[in-house]
Amino acid sequence: MSRIQRGSSFVSADIAGVPRPDRERGVDTKSERPVTCADVNAVVAGYLRDLAFAQSSQQKMFGYKRAAAAILSLDVPLTAMAGPDGSLPKIAGIGPGSTRIIREVLETGGSATVDQAVDHSDRRADIQRRRTLRQYFLSRAEVRRILSDPSFAGPTGEQYRGDLQMHSEWSDGYPTVLEIAEACLARGYHYAAVTDHSYGLKIAGGMSMAEADEQRRAIAAVNASYGGRFRLLQGIEANISVDGELDLTGDEAATFEVVLAAPHARLRKEDDQTARMLAAIAHPAVRILAHPRGRISGSRAGVVADWDVVFKSAAERGVAIELDGDPARQDLDYTLARRAHALGCLFALDSDAHTTAQLSYAETALAHARLAGIPAERVVNCWSLEELLAWLSDPAPSRRPS
Ligand SMILES: [Zn+2]
Repeated sequence: MSRIQRGSSFVSADIAGVPRPDRERGVDTKSERPVTCADVNAVVAGYLRDLAFAQSSQQKMFGYKRAAAAILSLDVPLTAMAGPDGSLPKIAGIGPGSTRIIREVLETGGSATVDQAVDHSDRRADIQRRRTLRQYFLSRAEVRRILSDPSFAGPTGEQYRGDLQMHSEWSDGYPTVLEIAEACLARGYHYAAVTDHSYGLKIAGGMSMAEADEQRRAIAAVNASYGGRFRLLQGIEANISVDGELDLTGDEAATFEVVLAAPHARLRKEDDQTARMLAAIAHPAVRILAHPRGRISGSRAGVVADWDVVFKSAAERGVAIELDGDPARQDLDYTLARRAHALGCLFALDSDAHTTAQLSYAETALAHARLAGIPAERVVNCWSLEELLAWLSDPAPSRRPS
């Protein structure tokens, strides 16, 4: 058994700011020490990312970044793939340099090779900063483990009825609305919301109101073809300006069945933006605060705010807080989601998919909800279509059955 399988040697990795879910799994009888469920693939990917940024050659940097991404998207932990002698099967996207690092981490719980490369590179401070921006991110293998572990009380994949954030060809996504509906039906959903960007976000191909009218007709045609078997909602992802305004008027917002508000700018500033977030959720059309921080793994921390104040206001208004399942976002993560849950929030667990294959990102959001202990009743995606539509037309908590 490699050291990492005993989970006893994660100190170095943990200090490095790589995520380590904090639930205890049991006790290692050999060492009598509690065994934590380390997310081995996230730890390995963290070292590969560090090594990428320590390279002076662009080509090598991209190689290690690609390797890190490949490890993060594996369905099973590396510990389960390694043979008794530590050998690894061929993994797509992983070259010999990365394989050596993976074996080193599996055997020793860390990577002296990477630590040395970082120490000798002139980007040491930048690499340290990036490490702190990888906290509480889950690998795909860890997401799958959490979904299949019945000891978590949160929502299950079977309870999940529909995804409320995704993008189509009408803004910066790829699929048509019909392709989306078919892919959602194949996943067993009862409904879903297409939430293309609003016209204010030019960089994401924001949809004009004329295009939105056209899209509404396309969605109606798709819905008619399913005869009530599946319902596609027309949503919009509105951009929150730096003052907390939305990038469409109140009348325009009211034409959509579900309005998400999300920040896409001023995501690298350290000043407090509580007022901006409060203004967005106070907008009468907003039902979901989407990717609330706008963080990106290893790159930016996103909006700084007094989140307890934001969550309290969202709970009072019946606005749902999103757990965005895009692997690079994971926003909110389970630590903040736990606080939002304690303050009485509703949640939307969404994929933020831009292709139909990315609809599986909803599982990442589900995993965070399970880690945060959020019950299915508080997750709008677990409600029936009737309950969902009732909340969309009037989110006031007093109107909801408790
Ligand atoms: Zn967005």
